[in-house]
Amino acid sequence: MQYGNAPGTQTFCFGYTGAMLEMKPNCENCLQALPPDATNALICSYECTFCHDCAAGKFELVCPNCGGELVPRPVRRVKG
Ligand SMILES: [Zn+2]
Ligand SMILES: [Zn+2]
Repeated sequence: MQYGNAPGTQTFCFGYTGAMLEMKPNCENCLQALPPDATNALICSYECTFCHDCAAGKFELVCPNCGGELVPRPVRRVKG
């Protein structure tokens, strides 16, 4: 049976897996709030996020999750 105006089986491309650099709002260790404009946030290359106290004081700038180097997270300034 054929329909004159059958809805096409459109295939949408879901190949897009571009994970945006997602800013995490808390330190993963102590859960201290780390808003986008926080200047005491550090991240590793896998985007694990820690406050400066944990990153420098506890982990000696080595990510406890993946072993990567923790570097200061760029500050996203809130406009307006
Ligand atoms: Zn912390
Ligand atoms: Zn990490």
